[in-house]
Amino acid sequence: MMASRLPDRGPGLDVPATMRAWVLGDPGQLSLVEKPVPVPKRAEVLVRIDAVAICGTDLDVIANGAPAMIQGGLPFNKDFTPGHEYMGTVAALGPGVDEFRPGDRITVEIHAGCGQCKRCRMGMYTSCLNYGLNYGAFDKGHRANGFTTDGGFAEYAVNNINTLVRIPDAMTDEEAALVVTAGTSMYGFTELGGLIAGESVVVMGPGPIGLLGAAVAKALGADPVILTGTRDNRLKIGLELGADHVVNVRQEDPVEAVRRLTGGAGVDYVLECSGAHDAVDVAGRMLNRGGRLCLAAFPHEPAMVDVAHLVRNNIYVFGIRGEGRSATHRAHALMAAKRFDATKIHTHTFPLAELPTALRYARERIDDAIKVILKAHGAGERARA
Ligand SMILES: [Zn+2]
Ligand SMILES: [Zn+2]
Repeated sequence: MMASRLPDRGPGLDVPATMRAWVLGDPGQLSLVEKPVPVPKRAEVLVRIDAVAICGTDLDVIANGAPAMIQGGLPFNKDFTPGHEYMGTVAALGPGVDEFRPGDRITVEIHAGCGQCKRCRMGMYTSCLNYGLNYGAFDKGHRANGFTTDGGFAEYAVNNINTLVRIPDAMTDEEAALVVTAGTSMYGFTELGGLIAGESVVVMGPGPIGLLGAAVAKALGADPVILTGTRDNRLKIGLELGADHVVNVRQEDPVEAVRRLTGGAGVDYVLECSGAHDAVDVAGRMLNRGGRLCLAAFPHEPAMVDVAHLVRNNIYVFGIRGEGRSATHRAHALMAAKRFDATKIHTHTFPLAELPTALRYARERIDDAIKVILKAHGAGERARA
């Protein structure tokens, strides 16, 4: 290993000058290159990435570009490293940082807003109005790692201290890499009203966010929690994670099933994680009057919606981006307390060098893949001090 080129900030880990990192070329084209290890600035740390999970949004970014935005445009051929659901070890500190120490095991959230716009001032940093403005004369300091700044398909990344959550020794790297997914589900319930104990909840779509959505809803005391989807193997995992009921929408009309399971009343909240073209209509009919719908998936096509039904029934519709309002911290607290076992959605592990294979497993759901995780460092190299 080469000596650190970072200024002296205490003991630190042995940080090399360069690292292996995947970069995005043309759409769908990734190559593993040698890049300089980034240097943390004020309020930032350098993170040695120990594990990174693949998200459906990574597949979108790599194939189509959006919602990534680099230097004001699409992320192709800009030396950009995608990947955003990672955990690791603090390796070095930026100037003035004393909130963390080198060697701390942490997991991360994605967005560090600019801190100066109207939305950041409201605490809505995942909806920062200066999204992607972090280059040249437009540098507002915004970061969304793996979207507007370099992300986690690499050996190291820079993170704002506000995006870090310390994890207990008992939490494995793989489990810690799933915290941000649970954080997205938590953000959905935060925006729906937060206090969902005793309230009825439907989660639509047993993808990673939906499955952990059912787990978070139950851990927060929602009753009943109903999970809908098309794949029995995933619905079964939903039951193990805390759903009270599951509905296979290929076997039963989901609106009728929800009415049956709630004595005709419908539910108070729906977390929509399926991205199905009719999802808003179906959710609207599952809700009781005054109910609330949170959209956490993005369909690829515009959808026709019976708006009149939503209006007549005073149904509130929320969209969420990412894992805002420190939801990752709250999700982490539930996981550290072992309120649910997020690792039930972790199905496959690959080394960092096999990212293309890992992406193919995630995209084609090979061998019933749900969450595919890459390990950047071998077990022997991991800090467990
Ligand atoms: Zn993600
Ligand atoms: Zn902002």
